[in-house]
Amino acid sequence: MPSVTGRAVQIPAAGGTFEVVQKQFPEPGLGHVRIRVQACGVCHSDAITKFGAFPGIAYPRVPGHEVAGVLDAVAPDVPLFKVGQRVGLGWHGGHCNYCAPCRRGDFILCENQQISGISFDGGYSDYVIAPANALALIPEDLADVDAAPLMCAGVTTYNSLRNSGARPGDTVAILGIGGLGHLAVQFAAKSGYRTMAIARGQDKASLARQLGAHLYIDSTTQNPAAELQKLGGAAVILSTLTNADALASAVNGLGPNGKLIIVGVPDKPFEVSATPLIMGNRTIAGWASGTGMDSEDTLNFSALAGVKPLIETYPLEQAAEAFDRMMSGKARFRVVLTTGA
Ligand SMILES: [Zn+2]
Ligand SMILES: [Zn+2]
Repeated sequence: MPSVTGRAVQIPAAGGTFEVVQKQFPEPGLGHVRIRVQACGVCHSDAITKFGAFPGIAYPRVPGHEVAGVLDAVAPDVPLFKVGQRVGLGWHGGHCNYCAPCRRGDFILCENQQISGISFDGGYSDYVIAPANALALIPEDLADVDAAPLMCAGVTTYNSLRNSGARPGDTVAILGIGGLGHLAVQFAAKSGYRTMAIARGQDKASLARQLGAHLYIDSTTQNPAAELQKLGGAAVILSTLTNADALASAVNGLGPNGKLIIVGVPDKPFEVSATPLIMGNRTIAGWASGTGMDSEDTLNFSALAGVKPLIETYPLEQAAEAFDRMMSGKARFRVVLTTGA
């Protein structure tokens, strides 16, 4: 397993511009693998690496945590994985196995969790070296460009919904139809929930129905909470919104025991009255993506049920344009880099 040479698109310093460089990728150390990247999604959280929004990021750093590729080298101590297998790598970039959450099997809450593209170089690259315990196997009938966004946007929405307590037939509302929301609507509908999609304007109504939504609410002309209450209230509202005020008002759409789950970061703190929470045993919660195994479940469910991200692809060398496109909010809906490998 000699070292290999390939391209990487790195940020030289916090706030710096993308630069395409040639890099050496050594053979992976113990517990690690080397992935020949085929596709990598461009996620809004890549802005953390671009702008240095987390403390302690070591630069230069290659962003990217929606990786799909082929195992190119595997350390000798790694069971399960073999060279040639197709794998995905997501936000969860490996866990320590020894902290208290790990010892309880709660790997996503590992106190020493690594994050792909932040703790180590990510997928805007021909190769990635990653901990083996972060990987997901990609099913045969799922293309790399479709698998990549499922490694973050996909697992976050799928894993939050399947752990929400909602049962088939329950009303589940998805707030926002964007990069996360367009996947959440598909997962909710394919899971058998009565799925309500809520977004601004009429232009997303037909798309929402194509994605499987049973109902569409235009929040500029209708009151989402009132519409949900007509159905007895939502068992779950999954919010992908950045608009904190819209998020706060959605609480009134929850049914008894209903849960508002937040997977998109709102633009500011928000206020809600505690009364409907107390009187109806309602909950407001957050959800963090998932482990490699959760991602593997996401990929398998997507292949089984026909869930696919809507994507725009860019060649790796155009990562800067791809990032700007993602940040513009105009992409429909996930931007994916391809290496041409
Ligand atoms: Zn992400
Ligand atoms: Zn740990």
